[in-house]
Amino acid sequence: MPVPLLDLVAQYRTIRDEVRAAVAEVLESQRGVGGPQIVALEKAVAEYCRCRHAIGVSSGTDALLVSLMSLDIGRGDEVITTPFTFFATAGCIVRTGARPVFVDIAPKTYNIDPSQIEAAVTPKTKAIMPVHLFGQMADMDPILAVAEKHGLAVIEDAAQAIGAEYNGRRAGSLGTCGCFSFYPSKNLGACGDGGMVVTNDDGLARRCELMRNHGAEERYYHRHVGGNFRLDSIQAAIVMVKLKYLESWHEARRRNAAYYNERFADCRAIQTPYVEPHNRMIYNQYVIRIPGKRDAVQAHLNQKKIGNAIYYPVPLHLQECFADIGHKEGDFPQAERAAREVLALPIYPELTRDQLDEVADAVLEAVR
Ligand SMILES: *Cc1c(COP(=O)(O)O)cnc(C)c1O
Repeated sequence: MPVPLLDLVAQYRTIRDEVRAAVAEVLESQRGVGGPQIVALEKAVAEYCRCRHAIGVSSGTDALLVSLMSLDIGRGDEVITTPFTFFATAGCIVRTGARPVFVDIAPKTYNIDPSQIEAAVTPKTKAIMPVHLFGQMADMDPILAVAEKHGLAVIEDAAQAIGAEYNGRRAGSLGTCGCFSFYPSKNLGACGDGGMVVTNDDGLARRCELMRNHGAEERYYHRHVGGNFRLDSIQAAIVMVKLKYLESWHEARRRNAAYYNERFADCRAIQTPYVEPHNRMIYNQYVIRIPGKRDAVQAHLNQKKIGNAIYYPVPLHLQECFADIGHKEGDFPQAERAAREVLALPIYPELTRDQLDEVADAVLEAVR
């Protein structure tokens, strides 16, 4: 029996009537830009993330870009981040004219290794951009300590981690600001693109608001050079419906993960996800590590039509477009090793026990 990596139709079936009604309301009002759904969602997400402000934007990528622009980061500046993440993290830094400075990851969590950050700080460093990869928060206390000591902003790339917690504190609420994505495959996804910046800084919130709308304080009077980074009303309406179910979906993902962990417990070839005891992991991805056998396991899953993916096959310091930064293989050994050994398995909330067993059986067959 084939199992998809993600089945958004299965989720849609459970909330179809509500989503259709919410979309119909936007259509009837014809306020597709700047409708009341945006402010309503901003208020709800701010509350959910325990932050004072939330600013809806056009994608997770644009949340990162708007944050960097609003913090006035650009040419000549450096931003410290991880090489083991989705492209957008470093892509946005480069788009502002700043330089990404990579720091290797901690091998167990795949998140930036805080003990290596301070050595990467220079007089040009303006910010640290930790990524809460796969739904587990980076080790924030030491990151915040380095940032405070050197006067740096902290931009949390929380695109995969809405609702994740670190010592009881929600993703996005610890740094200077946090960035979320409503890309359909995230735990809280729109039916298209969308994103959000959250912050407790009143001034920064205001700048982000201006920046998403061409930097205009008042229409046709531009204080900053911003862009069109607006969230649209239909996406906001859909995300608002889904937000009600988010906690139950997180819990379903956590149950699925616990079940896989149990199935893989006796298999020494497989390393199941490591979650720090102080973290609440929301499993945007369930990623196992299979040293030496990853490609063989993947081939077996593909042959059985069992969804899987490699996040991420090429660390960012080895991407062709960043060649001018001057890195080579061996510079970030933990990120490179992870890229060779990780494999993501289906973890979405609607998976049945039979589907979970199908996946686990196939993985175990392949490693034995
Ligand atoms: C998804 C993602 C983004 C980008 O979000 P989009 O909404 O797709 O633009 C950025 N960073 C990370 C870590 C992501 O997973």
